[in-house]
Amino acid sequence: MTEIRLTNTKTGRREVFEPCNPKDVRMYVCGPTVYDRAHIGNARPVIVFDVLYRLLRHVYGAGHVTYARNFTDVDDKINAAALARKRAGAAGTLEDLIRALTDETIAWYLEDMGALGNLEPDHAPRATGYITEMVRMIEELIEKGHAYAAHGHVLFDVESYAPYGALSGRSGNDMIAGARVEIAPYKKNQTDFVLWKPSDDALPGWPSPWGRGRPGWHIECSAMAEKIFGKTFDIHGGGNDLMFPHHENEIAQSCACNGADSFARVWVHNEMLQVEGRKMSKSLGNFFSVRTLLDQGYPGEVIRMVFLGTHYRKPMNWTRKKARDAAAVLRRWRVAADGVTPGDVPPPVIETLAHDLNTPGALAELHTLARIGHAEDLVAGAQLLGLLTPQIGHWDWAVRKHTFGNVQFAGDGSETHGQLARSIGEKWMMFRSAKDFASADKLRDAAAKAGLMLSNDASGGITAKKESGFDPSLLQRLL
Ligand SMILES: [Zn+2]
Repeated sequence: MTEIRLTNTKTGRREVFEPCNPKDVRMYVCGPTVYDRAHIGNARPVIVFDVLYRLLRHVYGAGHVTYARNFTDVDDKINAAALARKRAGAAGTLEDLIRALTDETIAWYLEDMGALGNLEPDHAPRATGYITEMVRMIEELIEKGHAYAAHGHVLFDVESYAPYGALSGRSGNDMIAGARVEIAPYKKNQTDFVLWKPSDDALPGWPSPWGRGRPGWHIECSAMAEKIFGKTFDIHGGGNDLMFPHHENEIAQSCACNGADSFARVWVHNEMLQVEGRKMSKSLGNFFSVRTLLDQGYPGEVIRMVFLGTHYRKPMNWTRKKARDAAAVLRRWRVAADGVTPGDVPPPVIETLAHDLNTPGALAELHTLARIGHAEDLVAGAQLLGLLTPQIGHWDWAVRKHTFGNVQFAGDGSETHGQLARSIGEKWMMFRSAKDFASADKLRDAAAKAGLMLSNDASGGITAKKESGFDPSLLQRLL
């Protein structure tokens, strides 16, 4: 069996990964707080852990790996966003508006991450579905002397848990200096963090032994991971911006409740993302959503390839130039992969990837396979990285950039036929932009036999015209 090595933040070392049970490998990754479109930086952990998920499935078998990623759907930012909608005149109670906002944002998130070629996790728990488990865990923490109630709040007593700070290597003073620790008069120590807080009538709340209220953010992941995976599981992932305080607090809660060696055995953290060499920020104008990029015509597969080009433990720089380069490579690979049935994943690709998820190294292996013309191996290796997959579909960036939407279909208005004809038109343009005129001519002739006439139009686009003998099933085979 392939040996996977991962850098474990908990030990600071690269270690051979040994699951608790190879028949039941379990990975939990912190998901988004759902009140807005995912920005490009949010896509990084999703892609990193999607590749790890694919690798684990490859090594242990798809049926032996479980991936859970939560949705935080109770949070003050969500309340504020819903309240803003209400003030702007949206109809319904605040509760209705919160539900609509979180439902809508979750649907966007899945759609945008799917467009980048990510598989959906096996479990996508919403925090509001696990309030009972959170209350039970908080009660247990109080019983065991690790938490206390004060003024309708329940706080974790950081001093009661000696190993606190071990993951991030922070001491008590660093914690106050380095993080936004909320100063409150009811806290025994200012580093104590909220497990439960009171809700007034206007805010979402659930009954609890401490009055109507809502959970703090950190307890959500501890409670959901335990409910889904049990007290101990294999991998916990997330961005390194979550290491402190979120992950430190998750560990404190779960280990104080369930024993020192419980919770995740391996912690994997990805580095952050920059845009054109600068930290993303709204004021610099380089802050944009995944959807914005997709709508600008960047194919999801191109975005994914740019991400894979940087190792997860290094800061990643998104640039337009990288996207152009990735598109050029993928266009060549797609032409080579056309109609090819993937073989077995070549060992050098797996071994490189298994070495602490070395995605740039795995891409280099794919370049070699493409250069020597091993198309079956190329497709199999690329698919392990989530590239050249059927899910991610067909595209051509040159077409999209200059003339996308400009493949005109003159037909009977049937949307299915229109899409089919446009796809054939795009493929024809793809061959021509790759200067593969033999394939372009062959496709045009085959399309004509199936009743679709391809021709140039004056604007530089393409007209695909439906003629008699139009045969969608024949055309389908040409895609
Ligand atoms: Zn979390």
